[in-house]
Amino acid sequence: MIELKGLRKQFGDAVVLDGIDLTIQKGEIVVVIGPSGTGKSTLLRCLNFLEQPTAGEITVGDLHVDVNRARKADILQLRRQTAFVFQNYALFANKTALQNIAERLLVVDGWPKARAYERARDILRRIGLEDKADAYPASLSGGQQQRIGIGRAMAAGAEVILFDEPTSSLDPEWVDEVLALMKQLAAERQTMLLVTHEMSFARDVADRVIFIDEGRIVEQGPPSEIFYHPRDPRTRDFLQKIL
Ligand code: ADP
Ligand code: MG
Repeated sequence: MIELKGLRKQFGDAVVLDGIDLTIQKGEIVVVIGPSGTGKSTLLRCLNFLEQPTAGEITVGDLHVDVNRARKADILQLRRQTAFVFQNYALFANKTALQNIAERLLVVDGWPKARAYERARDILRRIGLEDKADAYPASLSGGQQQRIGIGRAMAAGAEVILFDEPTSSLDPEWVDEVLALMKQLAAERQTMLLVTHEMSFARDVADRVIFIDEGRIVEQGPPSEIFYHPRDPRTRDFLQKIL
């Protein structure tokens, strides 16, 4: 249901993604790991055209685009089918929790106001922050802010949620509540593609772990294989450094 074929991204002469082929099934939880600067964020950002890919094909649900022939309507549709959770939350500081969640529904998904706000309230309940509807981000903890970031991604019912190191900016005390929400989503079989350094989360929750190095998929498989029986020396080397 999500397929990348030969996805490439160059910044000038620098090849950052060097032909990524990847298929993700509906309901699959896929974790991407790899050294820093190796193209993980760029992969996620290319998938919804936060970055314009250089070449390749992207399929999400019914939508299929050759990245060089993508029309505006295709890109908009791709953004509707994907939702992004950022490392630094990326909430609007001048909007309340409720407004932050409703915003995407209004702007990207074109929902009428009443429906968007009703949905946003529903999401606040699901993420356990109903009592924070009118709070501004600055008055919330990092954990609460990121739960709103995730709630915003949940709201539209996108085909896939892309998480880029969602717990990396958090003080340690807030990490667990955010991981718990992600686990809840995984248990509901929300399709997820996530970059994370939380190896125990990856071990417990991922269906598949993908190791990327220098813009290429080096190795992939179930967590039990990648973490305990990595085949490629680059995977072994990376895991030794972080585990
Ligand atoms: P990762 O998320 O794996 O740490 P990134 O995808 O952020 O890696 O970056 C991969 C490479 O692409 C890095 O060398 C980075 O400097 C480069 N890069 C990322 N974004 C840009 C950009 N907008 N312009 C130029 N180079 C970039
Ligand atoms: Mg990154």
